[in-house]
Parts: sequence; structure tokens; C-alpha cells
Amino acid sequence: MKWSNGRRDALVLSSSGGYRRVVFDCDVVVVGAGASGLRAADDLRRGGARVVVLEARDRVGGRTWSREQDGARFDVGGQWLGPTQRRARALAAELGLALFPTHTAGAKLVETDRVSRFRAPIPLLSVGNSVALASALVRARLARRRVDPAAPQATPDAAALDARSLADWMDGFMRDPDARGLLTAATRVVFGADPAEISLLYFLFYLSAAGGLLPLIDVKGGAQQDRFVGGAQGLSLGLAARLGDALRLGAPVERLVQDADGVTVHVGGQVAVSVRTRRVVLALPPPLTARIACEPAWPAARASLVDAMPMGATTKCLAFYDRAFWREAGLSGEAVSTRGPIAVTFDNTSADGKVPCLVAFIVGGPARELRRRAPDERRSEVLAALARLFGPVAAQPTAYIEQDWHDEPWSGGCPVAVFAPGRFAAAADTLRAPVGRIHFAGTETATEWAGYIEGALAAGERVAREVLRVS
Ligand SMILES: Cc1cc2nc3c(=O)[nH]c(=O)nc-3n(C[C@H](O)[C@H](O)[C@H](O)COP(=O)(O)OP(=O)(O)OC[C@H]3O[C@@H](n4cnc5c(N)ncnc54)[C@H](O)[C@@H]3O)c2cc1C
Repeated sequence: MKWSNGRRDALVLSSSGGYRRVVFDCDVVVVGAGASGLRAADDLRRGGARVVVLEARDRVGGRTWSREQDGARFDVGGQWLGPTQRRARALAAELGLALFPTHTAGAKLVETDRVSRFRAPIPLLSVGNSVALASALVRARLARRRVDPAAPQATPDAAALDARSLADWMDGFMRDPDARGLLTAATRVVFGADPAEISLLYFLFYLSAAGGLLPLIDVKGGAQQDRFVGGAQGLSLGLAARLGDALRLGAPVERLVQDADGVTVHVGGQVAVSVRTRRVVLALPPPLTARIACEPAWPAARASLVDAMPMGATTKCLAFYDRAFWREAGLSGEAVSTRGPIAVTFDNTSADGKVPCLVAFIVGGPARELRRRAPDERRSEVLAALARLFGPVAAQPTAYIEQDWHDEPWSGGCPVAVFAPGRFAAAADTLRAPVGRIHFAGTETATEWAGYIEGALAAGERVAREVLRVS
């Protein structure tokens, strides 16, 4: 592979009024400065490619975003790392980003028609509840083992599994309403979607990519095990710092025009610019890629990702307090509720313990429902739910942050795009298949820990190898 062959590829910036022309050498334009795009850009650069990264927002990190509160940094997007997420852990170590364990000491809470304490990995409320949840775990393990995350469409009964929703699957054996409510809450948190909205094949693919259902929902040993002392956005900030001028913020890509020699990338925003490059990497959630106009037009399967794979709905709420009063009461801060609107909570106190915090997730249908209310009303509902779980003092935070990812046009929702029933088997191939000179990254294209920071990094590595191979 030879990148610097003496030919200068032109990157032309031209403002809509009064033309400017600037010429750069550019081999690959990476669209999206989330963890995936930045990992790809860093690997491409190290592979000898001249890279430009275009990011629509005025910050890097995409679905990770760490904000300051009382002198500590808190994540309003992705925040936890699990023990098997080796790429993210290695990158954190390389960048000197410290991790610390999520606080777990104490009893957990479960709210159905009442609030009770539990300490087992999952709440065992009654014999019927325990049997149903244990059965779900066993059935999910047996079913997901047949799904190769690199080729889920090759599962022997892929079409039949895809045609069913996760809710249909639960109907088959899960009569106990509490068990059903708990599995619904867990899947809403993982996907930001309701069981009826998730293809069963996609659910099994997701489990397979993560190594099972428990690794997805557990704290110790699972995806919620560790946090970043300075926030998860640090991964993207660290990678971005290596790019210097090659990173352009406030540069939303609107149109891609492919020809025999390369791609012209049209950027909107305050200064309309166009960039000429040999290859493009789109490191965005799949439904957002299809919103970028393309000439020749996107293949039908690619265009269909807009409605086949809608973004999940997640509102993340952070309530700050003077004291970690739940710890004093022997509680871990972890809770699950089938009553809503909160599905789960965790202790989210800063690493040094100085800024006590509870984090609560409103997800799936309840997130879409609560979005229709006024901010004050939403806040009251969330605080009332926290008070039911942790006592009246929980209703009096010193500060409160709410982040609804639906309001972020460059994400469109969170934590992940989710295949609707009947739409995954036919489109699974499409996710990673290049369209001419356009290649695809982003966590949704990963075969390991899809939907997570780890998946974003894995997809960035894979796309960099792919582009370096063909160029
Ligand atoms: C509330 C929440 C909680 C989560 N919790 C966790 C967790 O605890 N652990 C975990 O591992 N993961 C978690 N996730 C998921 C994790 O954050 C994502 O999987 C990961 O950050 C995705 O990275 P990405 O690079 O694939 O995509 P993104 O981060 O979405 O990056 C895409 C980038 O493309 C930009 N972009 C979009 N359109 C355009 C355009 N047209 N032109 C230019 N730029 C564009 C966007 O602005 C964005 O910066 C969570 C996410 C959310 C929102």
C-alpha cells in the first residue's frame, strides 16, 4: 500500500459568499469524532494515511460527554467499562486515564408494587419470579450461542428469529408480571427500546457480542464495573489531541459525491466547504449515515437503515447531594423499578467521594412519554421516584442534570440504534459493507460489544484496516 505517491489530493474550502480555496493533502476523510471515528483516524494516520476528521458538533466524544459539577467530571453519556472491554481499558491506560470501581457495597433495591431490598445478582421476589428469570437466563444463553456476532444472518433460523420481537419471546414462557417487568426494565436500559421494538435476532446478536445477558446487566464483572475518574469523554479527547489541525469541529457533512477517482465531501454549517479525498469513513450511528445525501444514491438497503434501525430513547438524570445518605442507610444506590418512570439507578459519586450523586435512567417508552412534559414536571417525577426508593431526602438534591439524547440532532437518541423486528436479517450485511469508496464504522457495526465504547473502538480499528488494505 502506498499513500504518498507524489500526487496532491486537493481539499478545497469555499465559503458560500466570497470564495476561499485552501489545498491540503488528504487520503481519507473520517466523518464523526466519536470514539470510533477518532480510533479509525489515529490508526489510519499511523498506517501512513493523511487524514481529515470532520465533526458536526463543537466538541469531540459523540455519545460520551463529561460535564463538570462541583469540581468533578460526570458523564451524561456513556460512562462505564467492563472487565472484558480490553480495547477501551488499554486505551485508557495508554492515555493515562484512571478508572475506579462503581460503588456496590450495601443492599440493592427493587420496586414493583412495593420497595424491597435484595443482594443476589438479580431480584428473586417470589418462586414464580425466580423461576421465570432463571428460565430467561438459561434460554437466552442457549439461543445466543447459536448466533455468530460476525454473521448473525447465517443463524439457521435467522429469518424466523428476526420476525419475532423480544416481547413475543417473553410471551412464550414469562407469565410472572414482576419477572416480565424486570426483564423489560433491563432491556430498556441496555437498548433504550421496549421489548416489542427489538428484533429477537438482534437481541441475541447483542448478547453474543457482549458474551451474554449477565455481562450486559451486571456491575461487578459486567459492563457497569468501572468508571473513569475524569469522565469517559477523555478517551476521545486524548485521541483528538493527536490530530491537531486534521480535526475540524462544527463541520456537519451533508453530501457525498463519488466518482472514479475519489469522493467530494460537502460540509454545511457556518462555512460551506467541500473536501476532496480518496476514501471516506462514516463513523456515525447507521440511521444518521443514511441522512447524508449521496451521489450516486445510497443502495436501497443502506437507505432503509433510517427506519429499520431507529435510535433508542434514553434520558440520563444526575441528582447531586451533600451526603451519600443511601450509603449511610446500608444501600448501594443500585435500584431497579418496574413502576417507572425511572428504570434503574446507580451510585454515581465522584471517585474521591466528595460529590455524592445518584444516576437514574429513563428509557424506552417512559422516556418518550416523559419527553412530552414540561422540564419542571419531569424533574418532579424523577425526584418523586428517587424518594420512593431512597427516602424523602432524595427529593432534595443540591443540583440536578437531565440529558435527553433525543434532543441531540447529531445522535438522534441513545445509547444505540436498534433493529426493529423483521429488519435485521436482511440488513446485517449492509452495516459494514462499503459503498464504493465509502466505508462504515461506529459502534453499531462492531461484532464485539456492539453499542458500547468498546464496540466503537473495535469498529474504528476494523475500518482502518479495511481502508489501508484497499488503498
Ligand atoms: C446515556 C448513555 C449511556 C451510555 N452508557 C454507556 C456505558 O456506560 N458504557 C459504554 O461503553 N457505552 C455506553 N453508551 C454508549 C456509548 O456512549 C456509545 O456506544 C459510543 O460512544 C459510540 O461511539 P461512536 O463513535 O460509535 O458514535 P458517536 O459517539 O455517536 O459518534 C458519532 C459522531 O459523529 C458526529 N456526526 C453525526 N452526524 C454527523 C455529520 N453528518 N457530519 C459530521 N459529524 C457527524 C456526531 O456528532 C458524533 O460526534 C451510552 C450512551 C449513552 C448516550
